[in-house]
Parts: sequence; structure tokens; C-alpha cells
Amino acid sequence: MAKELISFVETTVNSESSFLNHISQEIWKNPELKFEETFAHDLLVKVLKEKRFTVQEHYVMPTAFRAEFQSKVPGPTVVVICEYDALPRIGHACGHNLIAESGLGAGLAIKTAMEKNPNIPGKVVVLGTPAEEGGAGKITLLSAGAFEGVDAALMVHPGPLDHLYTPFIGVSRATVQFNGKEAHASGYPWDGVNALDAAVACYTNYSHLRQHIKPDCRIHAIITKGGDAPNVIPGHTELKVHCRSATTKDLENLNKKVAACAESAAIATGCTYKIIPDKEPAYESLMTNSVLAERYKKYAEHFGVKFCDSNPKAIPFMASSDMGNVSHVVPSIHPTYSIGTTAVNHSVGFTEASGAPEAQPATLITAKAMALLALDVLLDKEFLSEAKRRFQKDLKEDKGEE
Ligand SMILES: [Zn+2]
Ligand SMILES: [Zn+2]
Repeated sequence: MAKELISFVETTVNSESSFLNHISQEIWKNPELKFEETFAHDLLVKVLKEKRFTVQEHYVMPTAFRAEFQSKVPGPTVVVICEYDALPRIGHACGHNLIAESGLGAGLAIKTAMEKNPNIPGKVVVLGTPAEEGGAGKITLLSAGAFEGVDAALMVHPGPLDHLYTPFIGVSRATVQFNGKEAHASGYPWDGVNALDAAVACYTNYSHLRQHIKPDCRIHAIITKGGDAPNVIPGHTELKVHCRSATTKDLENLNKKVAACAESAAIATGCTYKIIPDKEPAYESLMTNSVLAERYKKYAEHFGVKFCDSNPKAIPFMASSDMGNVSHVVPSIHPTYSIGTTAVNHSVGFTEASGAPEAQPATLITAKAMALLALDVLLDKEFLSEAKRRFQKDLKEDKGEE
């Protein structure tokens, strides 16, 4: 990319730094739970309109929005994503106020560059995606066609470390029910079929299985119903279980093994069992598009970022996100970036860090690097084709077809 365009993007984001910080601070001071992000929605919609984007407020969902700017020259479409939901009690402990800021900053820089250089083809979309902390907002948007015709989707996430390829893993959630038969626990225990024994055996099976799963797999479970009284053999119990894995194929295999844990517990105790998948759709693993990611890395490094993907001591933030599902439909990136704290996401310390001035320089860098990457997607046909070829290959690998 021409040096002039790089410095133009840098200057544009720098000139908006107070404004971007203000938006981020306002969202941080008014934390809202999933699907209730009306303050953030209204604020972002207002400023995007003021910045002359074409805005669809309440897009698909009451607290989602879509803001577009289209060049007169037809071309690719790039989406930059804003998240803005918070967590119960601890506010912006995942720093989504900063994700809103980086998406807004990148969107503004891309649009300003397109206005200055009318030959840049295509379209930029700033997409407001609610309910990442449970609720699967992006999956609803995907189902409604929000990503149709989109060539690349870009977002970043604050964390303790700079990771380009953060292993966001897929997650499936289910309830496991065991049914036995109640009986007097002292008088006629032999008449009972103990559903609590089944739940405990099932949980123990999960624990045994944990030693034999890959390092990027997870199983976590709790017993949510364990019986009603000690003197009654429990006839009905329930567990909630989450399975996570880095690829679709591995998650399928893990789900089979976890199902066998329940089946064997049921056989051993004489209970019947049922596995009921959660209504909320599973989050797929994040398929970071390496072609896009390496270009993002180049620009982020230009602004001083040092990625720690190759440092074995730097343990990445291994969670799950609905961005995983987007990454299976559109070539995507979702790097995490350090905001200068040792606190980890979903802690009170991270809430403080997300609202602190120290988070600002790093967030502005992500806006610049995303904007420059987006401009490459719009301007460089061969680069975009390469990203799409990589995407098709990754899809096959993820399903275990290659
Ligand atoms: Zn989170
Ligand atoms: Zn988050």
C-alpha cells in the first residue's frame, strides 16, 4: 500500500482520538447486558449518522445496527464489527466498549480514505452486533443474511496479550437428564433406581475423559438437580455440560465421547437418560484467515505491536465467540490485543483496565491496522482472491476433509 495512504489513515484515526475515547467511555460508564444495549446502540447510531454513514438502526434485532458507506466504483464489501454488551454485576469486564471504539474508528478511517480517493472501489459496513456474552447475536445476524455478499469481516478483542491467532474454540451446550425411580432411602432402597448415582457417575466419567482430550478441548459440567431429600432415592437429576474444541471435526468427536459418558452412567445405574442440546446455537471455532491476519500483523507491527503467538509462555485467551460462526461464512480475523493489564477478561480488574486511559493507544492502533487491511481488501483483487482461496482450504481442514 502507498505510504501516503498509510499515513492518511494514521492521521485520520489520531484526529478522531478524543471523539473515539469519548464514545468508548460513555459505553463503559453505561454497561448493558445482552439484548439490552439500547444506550450503546443509540449512541453509535447517532454518531454514525453524524459522520454521514447510511444507517439502519434496529437492524434485524432491536439493539443491532448496520452503517454503510459505498464508493461510486463497485467493488468488494468489508465489514468491521462493533460489540458493546457487558456482563452482569462486573460491567465491561470483557472490554466490548473498546471493540465498539475500534470498529467505529476503523470504519471512519476507511470511509474518510474512500472519500479522499474516489477510485477506491466497494463498500464499508460498520456492523453493530449485540449479545456476544451469550445470546449469539452474530448468529441471528448471519441467519438474517447480514453477511451475504460480504468479502471480509474484521474485528479485534482486548485481552491481556497480543495474539494474532487467538484460539477461540467452538462450544456446544447441553442438559443431561437421568430418570430412575424414587423409593424410601432407608425402608426400601432396593426398590429405587438412583438417578443421582447416574449423575455422579456421568460427572466422574467426564473427569476421567479430561486426561485424554486434546489441549485445545474443554469439558465443563455442573449438577443442577441432584434430588429433593436425603431420605428419598432421587428419581430425576440433571447436569449441564459444555464441550469446546478448536475444529468442527474435533467438537463432533468430543460430543460423541461426552454422550458415551452419560450412556454408560445410565447403564451402570439402570436409569434412562436424555441429552437435550441448548436452544442457543453452538458457537463455532474461530477460523482466522491467515492471509488477512498476516496483513493485519504487518500493519499492527508498523505501529509498534509485538505479537506473542510464538511465545510458549504466553497462554492465549481460550474462550468462545459467535464470531466463530461468522468466520465459517466469510474470511475473518479476530486478533486479541493487550490493553496493558495483567488482569484477565471477565474479572473486575479487566473492567477497570477497559475504562483506563492506558487502553486507548492500543485500541487506536487496532483501528488503524483494521482500516489499512480493509483498504487492501478493497484495492487489491489478487490479495482478496488469495484470502478466499485460503478460506475454502480452511473450511475443508476444519471439517476434517483434508
Ligand atoms: Zn467475554
Ligand atoms: Zn468478549
